[in-house]
Amino acid sequence: MQQGSRSPPMLSIVVPCYNEEEVLPEAAQRLDALLQRMIDAEMIGSKSHVVFVDDGSSDATWRIIEELYQRSTRVRGVKLSRNQGHQHALLAGLLTASGDIVVSIDADLQDDLEVMKEMVHAHAAGADIVLGVRESRAIDTPFKRITAEAYYHLLRLMRVEVVFNHADYRLLSRTAIEALRGYQETNLFLRGLVMQLGFRIAIVNYTRKRRVAGHSKYPLGKMLTLALEGVTAFSTMPLRYIAFLGFAISLISFLLGAWALVSALVFDDTVPGWASTVIPIYLICGVQMICLGIIGEYIGKIYLETKRRPRFIIETTLREKGH
Ligand code: UDP
Ligand code: MG
Repeated sequence: MQQGSRSPPMLSIVVPCYNEEEVLPEAAQRLDALLQRMIDAEMIGSKSHVVFVDDGSSDATWRIIEELYQRSTRVRGVKLSRNQGHQHALLAGLLTASGDIVVSIDADLQDDLEVMKEMVHAHAAGADIVLGVRESRAIDTPFKRITAEAYYHLLRLMRVEVVFNHADYRLLSRTAIEALRGYQETNLFLRGLVMQLGFRIAIVNYTRKRRVAGHSKYPLGKMLTLALEGVTAFSTMPLRYIAFLGFAISLISFLLGAWALVSALVFDDTVPGWASTVIPIYLICGVQMICLGIIGEYIGKIYLETKRRPRFIIETTLREKGH
């Protein structure tokens, strides 16, 4: 539903929500106020709206979304049939949103809302993808900051193309969304995927704030899963590093063997040792198990991809009223 080049584009703001009853009312209010300001400034079309995606919450999240929908013409809702995880909830929102441009943002409003205006400007200036990049992680705990930044370095080592400190606060044009629809993978790591799309990419910087209310829905386990997804969904470098490791260990063993042979034949000073027999056995076993584990990780992914299961299941949709 692309409008003429003169009229401002319709914006859909996609917000994945998992047990966010504490933040939703305030988030909805602030997003609505922002939409109003942007509509008044004629930056976006009057039909712009927010799409709340309920990712199988077990609290009052969906009831609140239904209430917001009753009260406002600028609210839409999508309810997933169960908890599918942040990335899949986000994808469900992106692929079902009807806007000419779509911005994804977390429900907890940690990402600076005002930056959305800059994103829309960047789109008007020709960018199809606009990435929000955190300038500072001052509010994160040292643990989160260190692990997150180390992770971006690891991704670089694995040759996964991502923008440093960009998470999932971004604008995508209709063209970019349609391109994204073509990617059928189950192992979703959206910040890596959008870099594969091509198109003109712009970046806007912002400072990340604290959660408005509630606590993080990303416990360590989910964070590690996402981290693993990021590497295995985009890179086969670990497989290559295994080969390097194998070569290095083989070379060292060969040199050790040669040295043992020389000491036995020339210097005749070998002491039959327990350590030199047993330690290498443990070492090689360990290395082999690590290697098998990494290979297993990829085989597991192949297994999951070949199933071609639906990546999200929508239970209910609250559409534009009157349709
Ligand atoms: N989220 C989701 N499904 C999940 C976990 C999280 O939709 O299984 C949503 C959550 O409601 C929030 C966003 O993903 O809008 C980011 O989660 P959170 O703010 O808890 O992560 P953090 O900022 O702590 O990394
Ligand atoms: Mg958050």
